[in-house]
Amino acid sequence: MHGTKILEEADRLMTVCNSCRYCEGLCAVFPAMEMRRSFSDGDLNYLANLCHACGACYIDCQFSPPHEFNVNVPKTFAVARAESYAAYAWPRACAGLFARNGLVISLIAAASVAIFILGFAAFNDPQVLLGVHTGAGAFYRLMPHNAMAALFGVAFLYAIVALVMGVRAFWRDIGEPVGMKLDAKSLWQAIRDAGELRYLDGGGVGCFNEDDRPTDRRKLYHHLTFYGFALCFAATCVATLYHYLLAREAPYAWWDLPVVLGTLGGIGLLIGPAGLLAERWKRDSVLVDEPRMGMDVAFIVMLFLTSLTGMALLLLRESAAMGPLLALHLGVVFALFVTLPYGKFVHGIYRFAALVRYARERQMLGHVE
Ligand code: SF4
Ligand code: SF4
Repeated sequence: MHGTKILEEADRLMTVCNSCRYCEGLCAVFPAMEMRRSFSDGDLNYLANLCHACGACYIDCQFSPPHEFNVNVPKTFAVARAESYAAYAWPRACAGLFARNGLVISLIAAASVAIFILGFAAFNDPQVLLGVHTGAGAFYRLMPHNAMAALFGVAFLYAIVALVMGVRAFWRDIGEPVGMKLDAKSLWQAIRDAGELRYLDGGGVGCFNEDDRPTDRRKLYHHLTFYGFALCFAATCVATLYHYLLAREAPYAWWDLPVVLGTLGGIGLLIGPAGLLAERWKRDSVLVDEPRMGMDVAFIVMLFLTSLTGMALLLLRESAAMGPLLALHLGVVFALFVTLPYGKFVHGIYRFAALVRYARERQMLGHVE
């Protein structure tokens, strides 16, 4: 007996697959499955989060519909994954945010943008808000640096704590002791597998989307999104160091490191999410968790808007549009921060933890990658 209907179904499928084993070369899921004879709830949540949703095992399966075995691993795991996000949410009271997640994220983003715009209008004289500000400290004439740092620092810290608590619950549920010392080899293997999106390639041929012709487009757009996000994060870290260590205030020149990193990341965060959104719409509905499409779309759109408003701010920062654009950008970024633990962002965290466990299991069995 399992805790939910979808885990019952996942157990049924893994039992069929464990007898068949035709797909064992496609990804990490099937070798991990083969290490088990029975499946606990935690095992199934581990396998579901290890799945990268490439679709290959559905296309290759001789037991997929209309066969009476009705084997559809990608869709079953997509639903199980989404339910696991809510199950591990911290605090528990926030688990409900994963239901109708697209609507929830949209409302939070709209409220955040409205509060920042109203706040900027309330605390600034119209001539200051719509004035032209240039040089070091220009942004802070509209919102003091300390207020900005405190607000975003608290939101970011909250997101980190909530994510850590969520991954802790996941780690415990999949049977790993909390507080264990991770070995560097497994960690490095998981970093490489995640960094290359090794298992988003259908066993080497590519990802299956709208038809049975595989392509690498989803992988490419995922890479642009992930590395774009990482570069934007790096830009923020460098700017923070500039501020506190070198006493250099934003905005910085075009050629300065935070701007270069932010611009490159911003370009990635425009192309990647736009491509992922287009691919998401084209995907065969038989492979995906259609009722939760809003969760995917909301996160992708939030990343796109973060970049779009940031790039607009960069281009128009020496014009009268800077004040309203800064309020808009900060509103979007604040909403992104506070919703990180309650949206699609968590898939990357749980998948990475699952990859670490997979690397550990392989090493314990003496497999060399
Ligand atoms: S998905 Fe189908 S073909 Fe692949 S291992 Fe499972 S039952 Fe076999
Ligand atoms: S959808 Fe792809 S990653 Fe997921 S189990 Fe099937 S082959 Fe593996």
